[in-house]
Amino acid sequence: MAFKVAIIGRPNVGKSTLFNRLVGRRIALVDDTPGVTRDRRLHAARLQDLRFDVIDTAGLEDAAAPTLEGRMRAQTETAIDEADVVVFMIDARAGVAPDDRTFAEVVRRRGKPVVLVANKTDVRAAEAGVLEAWSLGLGEPVAISAEHGHGMAELRDAIAAAAPQAGEEDEEPREGATGEGEDIDPDAEPPAYDTTRPVRIAVVGRPNAGKSTLINTLIGEERLLTGPEAGITRDSIAVEWSWRGRAVRLFDTAGMRRKARVQEKLEKLSVGETLRAVRFAEVVIVVLDATMPFDKQDLQIADLVIREGRAPVIVFNKWDLIEDRERMLAELREKTERLLPQVRGLKAVPISAETGRGLDRMMEAALATHEVWNRRVPTGPLNRWLAAATAQHPPPAVAGRRLKVKYMTQVKTRPPGFVLSCSRPEAMPQSYVRYLVNGLRESFDIFGVPIRVTLRTSE
Ligand code: GDP
Ligand code: GDP
Repeated sequence: MAFKVAIIGRPNVGKSTLFNRLVGRRIALVDDTPGVTRDRRLHAARLQDLRFDVIDTAGLEDAAAPTLEGRMRAQTETAIDEADVVVFMIDARAGVAPDDRTFAEVVRRRGKPVVLVANKTDVRAAEAGVLEAWSLGLGEPVAISAEHGHGMAELRDAIAAAAPQAGEEDEEPREGATGEGEDIDPDAEPPAYDTTRPVRIAVVGRPNAGKSTLINTLIGEERLLTGPEAGITRDSIAVEWSWRGRAVRLFDTAGMRRKARVQEKLEKLSVGETLRAVRFAEVVIVVLDATMPFDKQDLQIADLVIREGRAPVIVFNKWDLIEDRERMLAELREKTERLLPQVRGLKAVPISAETGRGLDRMMEAALATHEVWNRRVPTGPLNRWLAAATAQHPPPAVAGRRLKVKYMTQVKTRPPGFVLSCSRPEAMPQSYVRYLVNGLRESFDIFGVPIRVTLRTSE
């Protein structure tokens, strides 16, 4: 039996173009009469050697309500539920639109395997859009051009990997740093926080924020190059050293330490470099230039780190250049909370990479955040807290029926991930989930790291 694929996304991102490419142009053209309802929405499709059925969501769109919201519901509820794999498409040229986020949220909640596709990458301006696509929290975007047929090999691999019984699975050991978090047995006794394994840290930030300076100062003369790590591309190197007796493995890119290349350094953010660093780290230090903090790239990078589920630490570098430090620090910390509200209590530390000031505080923040990232909340206290939280502020009624929250379990660490069983997960408003996440943070002291909550139906 062929598996079924649904192509989902807001209008005009290029779904029909990809659909036509997959099923062959003729079928779609023949059937393309507005108002014609088709029973048979499945079309045999081929992508290189891979064969599957595509659900024609264009038909679903036509039949639905006049509003985008309505069309979206029709698409998602019907197509996603029927599909084995969801191809979620955005227009990389346009970047991530608010509607994309709404769609992504619905897709994510249904819990089906998703392949995130950033289309229209034949257009030069699309690179930023591909990076932004990470912020949807649906994993690595596959860059394609549906119109020109670029990226089809990558799309094939991504769909094959997401498909049921995908055949060969080449799972590499990633020590929980997968963005998915690490599965745990909620009934087992929580193990003590392991301080013997090296903490894997990456330094990211836009060009000229001071990343190379920071790395050089940190590792100083004691640095010990351990050579290319398995799974890391040639230009990435891990540097190992220890800080206050704790083993630290720092992911570095060769370019950072090669001073000769400074002059030819691109003024542009290197997306690939950032992604690689984030992928292989547990703690990610996001370097901001305190003399020009929080530009768009800074936010994109921080958002990427958070969406990937890493333990983030923000540093305000070049603090030696700041005059009114006390006022500035208050201002920057306020901005951090306001611009990155997904993670309350983000650690934000002023440093001077050049003089070395603040680096001890930065390392303390990195290790403290790493500990919280590994935090486990036992099921008993968790549910006592949940009972109190829902009694104090009960879930709302939707369509005349009150939502019921039953039970909560922590199923993942690195970062902490919880499953909440409730009636009608699809109707649960985000605001209520936020209320619970905030409560979790306060009650169990889980600040400064992403928290994930998955909703499940309670039987
Ligand atoms: P849908 O509403 O999501 O089904 O989008 P369509 O497939 O109808 O495409 C919307 C518009 O984007 C059309 O004008 C397409 O020609 C254009 N388009 C689709 N794919 C690409 C692409 O890869 N590159 C570029 N530049 N344009 C594309
Ligand atoms: P990268 O592109 O992020 O690796 O940034 P670099 O480490 O190459 O630094 C960019 C520029 O900022 C260089 O001219 C550094 O000397 C300067 N810089 C880096 N850190 C500091 C700092 O703490 N204070 C000051 N005043 N300048 C810094």
